[in-house]
Amino acid sequence: MDKVNSHIIAVYPGSFDPVTLGHIDIIKRASKLFDKVIVAVAASLHKKTLFSLEERIEFIRESVRDFPNVEVKPLINKLLVDFCKEHKANAIVRGLRAVSDFEYEFKMAWMNRRLYPDVEILFLIPSEEYAYLASSLVKEIASLGGDVSSLVPKPVADRLQEMREKIKKEGTGEEFEQSI
Ligand code: ADP
Repeated sequence: MDKVNSHIIAVYPGSFDPVTLGHIDIIKRASKLFDKVIVAVAASLHKKTLFSLEERIEFIRESVRDFPNVEVKPLINKLLVDFCKEHKANAIVRGLRAVSDFEYEFKMAWMNRRLYPDVEILFLIPSEEYAYLASSLVKEIASLGGDVSSLVPKPVADRLQEMREKIKKEGTGEEFEQSI
């Protein structure tokens, strides 16, 4: 086996709708391990998202300001492996929470390796307190008026609160329901 490349650029892909403290935990861990981390925010083709691509990117940018080796970029209409090649990334990072994540993550990892054998796929485990945290859960709690301030970065919590107040006044909360 060749020597491990000493300059590692890792891509952390996801939909981040919205980013949670679990995602941030993974980004922090990755930023300590790798020379550069690119958070690739996917424009969702099949699923309606609660937040636009621009909002999802902005929430992450605001939360990673203190990490100089982390960049946030959109991933639009292209394969993750092509995004990696374009940015000279040699690793893909994904977060693993519980056993339930395994099957999906392994399927994706094998497929990505098949498409791009030179990329390594690495799984990082978040701190215990975030092990059961998911964006869908955050949206569900927020849509029912629950407090999510200990689960997401402040700008996300503030925005969810605003949306909730707007719904209380005038709407049905349909956007929430469609994206959970
Ligand atoms: P996707 O739609 O690609 O699954 P997500 O935004 O849901 O995107 O998740 C992106 C990555 O972050 C996935 O690898 C997912 O397993 C991981 N992840 C999500 N929530 C957490 C969490 N609480 N702790 C650690 N990793 C997480």
